[in-house]
Amino acid sequence: MRARFFRTVGQLRAPRFMYEPGGVRHAVALGSLSLTVAVVERNDGSIVLIDAGYAEEVCANPSKTLQFLQALSLGFEGTGEDSIVRQLQRMGFDPGKVTQIVATHLHRDHVDGVADFPNAELVVSRQEFDAFLTQPRVPGYRQQDLVAAGRIRLVDLKQDGLYGFPGSFDLFGDGELVLLDANGHSKGSMAVAIDDGNIPYIHIGDAVYQSWEYGLAPSGPSRLATVTAWNHKALHETYRVMREAENHKRRPVLVPAHDLSVYETLPQLPQLPQAPA
Ligand SMILES: [Zn+2]
Repeated sequence: MRARFFRTVGQLRAPRFMYEPGGVRHAVALGSLSLTVAVVERNDGSIVLIDAGYAEEVCANPSKTLQFLQALSLGFEGTGEDSIVRQLQRMGFDPGKVTQIVATHLHRDHVDGVADFPNAELVVSRQEFDAFLTQPRVPGYRQQDLVAAGRIRLVDLKQDGLYGFPGSFDLFGDGELVLLDANGHSKGSMAVAIDDGNIPYIHIGDAVYQSWEYGLAPSGPSRLATVTAWNHKALHETYRVMREAENHKRRPVLVPAHDLSVYETLPQLPQLPQAPA
């Protein structure tokens, strides 16, 4: 791995009572959520994204295109410049080198941006793809996002579990990117372990919206997670797995896709940390 870092594709604006613990006291206040994308540059120069946020066109004109968010009382704050494709270009990366986009799940705020990367294949779990096909009217799933993908690669998470997650798939067979079964928010939600040999990061998509939700005091789910969950029992089981993952001897950093305070602690520039001398 040559580099790995995180970016947010603008921010979501949401009533704080939807995602904060005991949030009723914030009944009218708005807060911000991230749309966290992980960028991994491999040794051969190819680039893998974990989630893609909204496409440039949508970021440039959100009010016309984001009915799903409005239904959840979420707004989007950003411009076309905040799309991941524009951010990569500004940092000197060629979007044509993005060869894979792993979708933690197929909700629009995670997969829409594939439209900006014609050379990328979309990697998604078979369970999630099945849910997408059989439940097209579930809010958040939108056929045209997938039509824009160059190719769709379905994966089965049948390899041994990792960090306590019950199943996995090692994307390149070298341990750098391992897809993990984190279902509950949606039927085939995945987490993705990114391992450069130093600190492992696990992009957990929407398996949890905010880190506090998988804790025990206070405990989740938030109102937002309750409204959007596919299966509450599975959601709680994945919360338990995440609590244990944090205690794994390698101390992975869990990265929820929408937790802005976690995002602010992450490496956001394309460098690997230097090993201590
Ligand atoms: Zn989301």
